[in-house]
Amino acid sequence: MKPHNRPVTESLRQQRIRRAESLATQYPFASQILSFYIQIARFQQDLYGRLEARSAAVSPTSGPPELPELLSSFPKFLALIEKQAPAPLAEIARDLSHAPSNSWSDLLNNVWSSPGELSDQPTDPAEFLAVAFLQPYAEFVRSRVPLQLEGYSHALCPFCSRKPALAVLRPLGDGARRNLLCGFCLCEWEFRRIVCPGCDEKDHAKLPVYTAEQFPYIRVECCDTCRTYLKSIDLSKNGLADPLVDELASIPLDLWAQERGYSKLKPNLLAM
Ligand SMILES: [Zn+2]
Ligand SMILES: [Zn+2]
Repeated sequence: MKPHNRPVTESLRQQRIRRAESLATQYPFASQILSFYIQIARFQQDLYGRLEARSAAVSPTSGPPELPELLSSFPKFLALIEKQAPAPLAEIARDLSHAPSNSWSDLLNNVWSSPGELSDQPTDPAEFLAVAFLQPYAEFVRSRVPLQLEGYSHALCPFCSRKPALAVLRPLGDGARRNLLCGFCLCEWEFRRIVCPGCDEKDHAKLPVYTAEQFPYIRVECCDTCRTYLKSIDLSKNGLADPLVDELASIPLDLWAQERGYSKLKPNLLAM
């Protein structure tokens, strides 16, 4: 299996939502966050479908055909957040929905064009909302451009230059190969196993890996040099796992790592 620039198919999205539903009942500590995620994921799924339809209906020479669809979908997204999100976030969505629409395009443009550093620690909740809203669009655009993934060996996403949100171990022969996954455009690319994607540290002794009994298929890969961590979902140990969803659900691992002074290389879609 060679790395390729795959779009996330309709059935994969549905599987992901089902996985979130099942983990929400399995892990009470994650049920609230997963229920919220499911609402967002359903919205994203619809938006992706509308973007696809819009793009197919308009000839590609007439400018970015998805833009009107995006801007007209943003109020629906804000309404969803206002209704479903915890109070502080719901309030931000309400304020934004009353702001002039040119401030929306500024926000969306800023988040779209700043490759990561602005969004690394999304303390600005409006920015978090924009990232979650634009995620399916990023995926849509990424799956339509030619990307040379074979031989790509950098730690930043080859499409949007963001830091990876997590790692995935995919079965390969008797072991597993490590891929990094971008949480924004969902690009997945191969990366060496014993290298920190945050600072390029290669010294085995400075790259401790932790697991917890509760999640035997999730590794917390830490770096004692830059004090960051990312979670690695081992699909060779649990083929039912969905990397994005299982990463979100395993909140105790984040608390554990953060208590020990590690900070997450890249916060996930729910800003954790
Ligand atoms: Zn990306
Ligand atoms: Zn490091």
